[in-house]
This record gives sequence, C-alpha cells and structure tokens, in this order.
Amino acid sequence: MEEYIEKTLENLRKNNMEAFYAKDAEEAKEMLRGFLGEGDEITVGGSVTLYKTGILEMLKTGPYKYYDRYEKGLSQEETAEIFRKAFTCDDYISSSNAITENGELYNVDGNSNRVAAILYGPKRVFIVAGKNKIVKDINEAVRRVKTLAAPKNCERLKKQTPCSVNGECISLSKEEPLICEGCRTSERICCNYVISAMQRQKGRITVIIIDEEIGY
Ligand code: SF4
Repeated sequence: MEEYIEKTLENLRKNNMEAFYAKDAEEAKEMLRGFLGEGDEITVGGSVTLYKTGILEMLKTGPYKYYDRYEKGLSQEETAEIFRKAFTCDDYISSSNAITENGELYNVDGNSNRVAAILYGPKRVFIVAGKNKIVKDINEAVRRVKTLAAPKNCERLKKQTPCSVNGECISLSKEEPLICEGCRTSERICCNYVISAMQRQKGRITVIIIDEEIGY
C-alpha cells in the first residue's frame, strides 16, 4: 500500500471513523457486502463510484430493503421521499468528493440530501472512494471540487453552469477565492460545504479506500 493511503487510513481512524483498504473495486464491493445485514434498510447518495464498482447492482439484487433513487419512472415526489428515507435507514452508502490525508471527508452538494445524511440520521454511513479522491489537505480538497468534481458532475447532470463550459469554477478567476465563492446560476451544484472531521459517534462512518482511480 502506498504511504499516503496508509497515512489517510490512520488519520481517518484517529477521527473515530473505521477505515479499510481494498485492492480493487471487487474487493471493496465484497467488503461492503460483509458489513450489510440481511433485511437492512439502505439507500445511497448520488455517485459514479457506486455505479462503477457494481455496488448499486449488488444492492438491487441483494437481500436488503433498498430504496433505489435510480429506479426508472420515479416521480419527483417519490425521489424526494427516498431522500427523506435516508434519515431513518440502517445504512447510507456514498462516495466522497475528497478525503484529506489528515483524515477528513470533504463534500459539496447542491440538493444536499447526501451531505445531510452523512451528517446525521442513518445509523451507519459507508463511504467508498478511489485513491484519486485523496488530497493533501482541505485547501487541495476545495480545489479538487472546483477544478474536477463539480465541472464533471455538472457535465454529467447537464447543468448549465460556467464550470461545465470552462472546465473549472468561475471563482478561480480570483487570486484567492473563498471556499464558497462561485457562480450565481440556478443550476449551481455547490451550495452546502461539509467537512467531516473528528466524529463523536465512533464507528458510525466507515471509509473504504480502493487502490484504483475510480469516479470523480
Ligand atoms: S459554484 Fe458554479 S461554477 Fe463553481 S464549481 Fe460550483 S457549479 Fe461550477
């Protein structure tokens, strides 16, 4: 295991999160399967990583009460109901926009159902992330979202924002943009900024870092 991954795992543990290493996506999926209980109520945060690792498929076909936000034909109200169900679920599964070597999770949301569930509600939260999500510190995490995660997500979600056209946040035209500076479009996906540092509830959050580049 590369040193920076080991350091990140150690510091996540110091912050009262469980932290595990998976050599590839398949191992991460099987590890997660081992944590989930039969009949568990489960839902997920929007994530390319969960799709690419096969975790979404595993949840759909497994022995769980899975509230599938991606099910075809859901009305807006049904989707919103699934988002609300997250707060009383046994397990919430998501990725993270960035993970610092200091053991912090950094997430930025537009709708904010994902950051809300990471913060409070579901009994357990599982974060599955490729090693490409690891950054040195919060400053680098902010930059990662503004130059990579947000532009790519805007492109994927077909949001008309400056970063989906220019490839980076409009705030970067300033010399030292503040963390929450950005566009003022109605489609902005950066609205709530959450750093998960030292946790009071030990072990509520489990992080699985995959030794592969996956998601963004
Ligand atoms: S604030 Fe707007 S332009 Fe900046 S990264 Fe977010 S969506 Fe893109």
